[in-house]
Amino acid sequence: MLYLKNGTYINPVTFEFSKVNIAVENGHEGKIYFTDTIPENAQIIDCNGMFITKSFVVGHHHAYSGLATGMPPPAKAPQNFSQILQYVWWNLDKKLDADEIKASAYVTAIAAALNGSTFIIDHHASPFSIKNSLNIIAKAFNEVGVSHLLCYEISDRDGKDIAQKGIDETDDYLKNNQGLVGLHASFTVGNETLKKAADLMNKHNSGIHIHVAEDIVDQDLCIKEHQTKVVQRLNYFGFLSSSKTILAHALHIDENERNILNNSNAYIVQNPDSNLNNGVGFFTRKGLNNNNLMLGTDGMHSDMFKSAQTAFFAGNLFDSPQLNDVYSQLRNNHKYIEKNNFKGDGNNNLIIFNYKNNTAFNQNNFIGHFFYALNSSNVEHVISNGEIIVRNKKITKVNHSEIIEFAKIQAKKLWNKL
Ligand SMILES: [Zn+2]
Repeated sequence: MLYLKNGTYINPVTFEFSKVNIAVENGHEGKIYFTDTIPENAQIIDCNGMFITKSFVVGHHHAYSGLATGMPPPAKAPQNFSQILQYVWWNLDKKLDADEIKASAYVTAIAAALNGSTFIIDHHASPFSIKNSLNIIAKAFNEVGVSHLLCYEISDRDGKDIAQKGIDETDDYLKNNQGLVGLHASFTVGNETLKKAADLMNKHNSGIHIHVAEDIVDQDLCIKEHQTKVVQRLNYFGFLSSSKTILAHALHIDENERNILNNSNAYIVQNPDSNLNNGVGFFTRKGLNNNNLMLGTDGMHSDMFKSAQTAFFAGNLFDSPQLNDVYSQLRNNHKYIEKNNFKGDGNNNLIIFNYKNNTAFNQNNFIGHFFYALNSSNVEHVISNGEIIVRNKKITKVNHSEIIEFAKIQAKKLWNKL
């Protein structure tokens, strides 16, 4: 049990500020209580002058890119989205071995925790090291103390054998773990594999996690090869009926596809920094149900303050969302988890942040401070499932220095193979 003393709790929904002491129970079912009685044997954390609120969830991530920071550029500069995949990401993910996956997962979980996220929804690819890859990631995330919803991105891009290995890994993992059926994107998955993914989704009562219309090429190839649009194709296979289904990006979708999505149970995750980086376009919420929109990082970073701020600032050039729209989108990540009964995102997941506000800071203007002043450097302590995983800006459950050394060695080995 933890006891957070003398903090100011900010309700993540109503923004109500309360000067309180909070008892925090441990575990997936753990609750929080406002109480002035210190529970027996509680570990006390002095929160005097600090603010406490719900931690974040990364709605779409790629731990496999954890060692990519500063890697050498591809021999040939990519000219479009297909070439970015071929020259950069598919070159990297094909080279990953078990140790490199492990290092990538540690680095990603630690970055997420330090930035105030306690749950990662990840989309993994390592076509020549598929077997057991999800367990490797799960183990690293668990050690750091970050909860997760993992999947392997099944694809025909490297042939039928590798697609089958992706299906087998998913089937194995979902027998014992919460997770999703991952698919790369419509344009790299043929009908036969798509049917197998649908069967797998139904067998495990799960959903799919797939990139949708991130670039126009996904739509162009869908029309050429399947005489339909991407959202219609996914709908035909039954994927959109599951409230566990996550569609990443959904940039290049037409009005009809927006209507289909509005009448479906699927969630859509915007990844603003990634879209700007790839120059593929920008997400617009026009005609979509705000309650089904989430926010992610797409492997660009692990900082949900940054994702929310980019979604708002860059969004001003497109469909001008309101601050409330983007903040709700950030917090919809929790609703997705709650609705689908996934574990690891209860009220005992908290950030405690230090913020010396220069102007009034209260329920009425919390959101202004959130977008214009707060950032991950304010995060002081992080609590995941009632356990402190970041204290005084330092990771508590694993040896960070040792992991940095391990990651540097693995990154060098990986980069030499590129
Ligand atoms: Zn992605």
